Amino acid sequence: MVEEIKEEVRTEPISFVEEIVRNDLSEGKNGGRMQTRFPPEPNGYLHIGHAKAIAIDFGLAQKYGGVCNLRMDDTNPQKEDTEYVEAIKRDIEWLGFKWGDVLYASDYFQQLWDLAVELIKQGKAYVDEQTSEQIAEQKGTPTQPGVNSPYRDRPVEESLRLFEEMNSGQMEPGKMVLRAKIDMANPNMHFRDPIMYRVLNLPHWRTGHKWNAYPMYDYTHGQCDYWEGVTHSICTLEFVSHRPLYDLFVDWAKQVGGDDQPLDDNRPRQIEFNKLNLTHILLSKRNLLILVKEGVVNGWDDPRMPTICGFRRRGYSPEGILSFIDKIGYTKFDALNQMSLFESAVRDDLNKRAQRVSAVVDPVKLIITNFPEDKVEVYTAQNNPENEADGTHEIEFSRELWIEREDFMEDAPAKFFRLGPGKEVRLKNSYIIRCPQENCCKKDADGNITEIYAELIPETKTGEANANMKIKGKTIHWVSCRHCIEAEVRNYDRLWMVENPRDEIAKYSDEHGGVKGIEAMRPFLNPDSLEVKKAYVEKWLTTRKPLDYLQFQRIGYYNVDPDSTPEHLIFNRTVGLRDNWKK
Ligand code: ATP
Ligand code: MG
Repeated sequence: MVEEIKEEVRTEPISFVEEIVRNDLSEGKNGGRMQTRFPPEPNGYLHIGHAKAIAIDFGLAQKYGGVCNLRMDDTNPQKEDTEYVEAIKRDIEWLGFKWGDVLYASDYFQQLWDLAVELIKQGKAYVDEQTSEQIAEQKGTPTQPGVNSPYRDRPVEESLRLFEEMNSGQMEPGKMVLRAKIDMANPNMHFRDPIMYRVLNLPHWRTGHKWNAYPMYDYTHGQCDYWEGVTHSICTLEFVSHRPLYDLFVDWAKQVGGDDQPLDDNRPRQIEFNKLNLTHILLSKRNLLILVKEGVVNGWDDPRMPTICGFRRRGYSPEGILSFIDKIGYTKFDALNQMSLFESAVRDDLNKRAQRVSAVVDPVKLIITNFPEDKVEVYTAQNNPENEADGTHEIEFSRELWIEREDFMEDAPAKFFRLGPGKEVRLKNSYIIRCPQENCCKKDADGNITEIYAELIPETKTGEANANMKIKGKTIHWVSCRHCIEAEVRNYDRLWMVENPRDEIAKYSDEHGGVKGIEAMRPFLNPDSLEVKKAYVEKWLTTRKPLDYLQFQRIGYYNVDPDSTPEHLIFNRTVGLRDNWKK
């Protein structure tokens, strides 16, 4: 028995990241401890890309008995906000993960400052008074060494005094920076005396006016990981070239902290994987903020947004999102995944959880001429054939019904298996009906069909004598005119007309004098990404709660919008029943 389980663990496909974690644990690194962190910058709402990072940061910690802390990377006070912090927490919880502690990079501002002072004293950092342009010019290129700053060897006391001044609130932003003294000729550009601190003179939403000089990402992240006890610092590929600097700052923090454990074994290890990137969507909070501010979408949770809250409102389930992430996996190469792959994963998931209902989105009236006018029949409809435990609900049938306009054709060819002169179909949960050969519909002056006529064939309901009668026609859905409810249906199409908006926008910007922001985005936005329609839906839908998962039978997956009320029902189209995106 034990052997069998072992075998199962061995053959299960795991990512290279998980492989590293397993090896480290089996070698007893970090005392057999495992700890991760998810480090968003609270400058916007989380998007589907973040879900990929969340799944591995929290997922691996959970699987290997470790903890994953939520650490807000809040070193840019001008762009950050508590609104975002709250939204980030809500989205992580919705995805189904639990953090250990909520921490902030700003918790470490004092420690980072003290470390910087110590590094200045050791001759490992200096205050540079050059402009950012001058510093950039001296940086060199990957094949050409840089040039030392004239301030590189200034006396320690001077740097200490100027560093204090940088934080006084009296120094103009940009006038001075603190730089690490590493190696201006190093082939790794990040080693060419990277900036550790810059002056911002801005209050911080957590630390108030205490700080005016703020640490840079590279000087912050590794030490926070180290001080917190993170063992595996998982991030995306663009940080590969930062890794040596990450390691160096951790070494410095260790030495200054007086920790004499061997450096290689007990330290956070940065591991990089490929970002999630999907066709027809644009990620990055900075870009998403532009769409919100310019009113292209109705807020961060607009169902067309690739944000977690937008996806939630759209009707994708956390399980569906995570199953997609599981499918694409973690690699060391950038890729662009097809949106259709994502949709197929969420569709498989929704098939298991969506409640089946009837909704007619393009209605035309059908009259059952041999059914009495005041009679009503009540049927029991299964909520979800995939899950009996979901139960049943009732649906009323009467003489006048709404059906989809496309389910009837006046000059129907032989291969049209829906309604038309002399044709038969089954009404879902109800009778088989037949249109007469002659006079099967009525039209208005413009030739639009206003009414269709049919007769029901007696005893063709489930369990009755003619229930098994064979017909060529399909089963179509319907709602009873007297019993149904009008609802607003929001159908979404792709927001971007091009497969790779990020690249197209960059190209357009290059070709048009560097136009930025919404100007560069507009040519690629789909003007028809939202279609609002009126539909007739069965009454049972008034009992559904916001965000409930539904399948409008034969139409698509929908969910209940958070703004929906029993008096004004609103449904969002999540995804069609099959992949029918126009090429
Ligand atoms: P954005 O540019 O959208 O703001 P970011 O990388 O700046 O993204 P952060 O909030 O700083 O966002 O990132 C939090 C974590 O999420 C980081 O570890 C980052 O690498 C990861 N992450 C961000 N975008 C993606 C993505 N598309 N796929 C996978 N992980 C991502
Ligand atoms: Mg960022």
